[in-house]
Amino acid sequence: MKEIKEYIRDILNFPKEGIVFKDISPLLNHSDTFTRVIEMWKERYANRGIDTVVGVEARGFVFASAVAYAIGAGCVMIRKPGKLPYKTFTKTYDLEYGTDTIEVHQDAIDPGNKVLVIDDVLATGGTMEAVLELLMDNFNCELVEVTFLMELSFLGGRDKMKNLPVHSLVVY
Ligand code: AMP
Repeated sequence: MKEIKEYIRDILNFPKEGIVFKDISPLLNHSDTFTRVIEMWKERYANRGIDTVVGVEARGFVFASAVAYAIGAGCVMIRKPGKLPYKTFTKTYDLEYGTDTIEVHQDAIDPGNKVLVIDDVLATGGTMEAVLELLMDNFNCELVEVTFLMELSFLGGRDKMKNLPVHSLVVY
C-alpha cells in the first residue's frame, strides 16, 4: 500500500507566492486511503470516551464528521463569522496581516464532555491556538487531544497547543 503522503499533493505558490499548499483532494478521493486515515484515528480514539469531535472550517469538517461517526461521538463545527445561525461565542486572533474571527454555538459542548479537536494541517499553529482558546474560555470541557492529518513541523506550531497532547498522522 502506498504511503498517505503519496496522496497529499503539493501545489506551489498557492494561494500566494512562496506557499507550498498541501492539497488533500487526492487523499479524500481515494477510498482506500480515506478509509485508512479514518481507521487510524478510530483505533486511537475509539476507547477514550470521547463525547464530541470538534472540526475546524472547512477541511477539518470532512475529517471531524467521519471520525465522530466512526467512534460514536457528536460533531461540532468551528466556523468563520456569520455562518452559524444560533447564539455564538467568538474569538478574534491575529494573522500576519490583520485579524481573523472564529465562532462556535454556545450550546455546542456540555460541561464535562471529553473533546477531540481535528484539523487537516498544523502549520504555524495560529488557527488551532485560537480554536483552543475559544473552547477553553467558554466551555468547562476536557480537551483530550488535538489531532491533525499532517503537521508541518518546521513551522513550530506545536508550541502553541496550550500544553495539550498533540498528534499528527503524517509529519513533514
Ligand atoms: P496555521 O494557523 O498556520 O497553523 O494554519 C492552519 C490552517 O491553514 C489550517 O486550517 C490549514 O487548513 C491551513 N493551512 C496552512 N498552511 C497550509 C498549507 N501549507 N497547505 C494547506 N493548508 C494550509
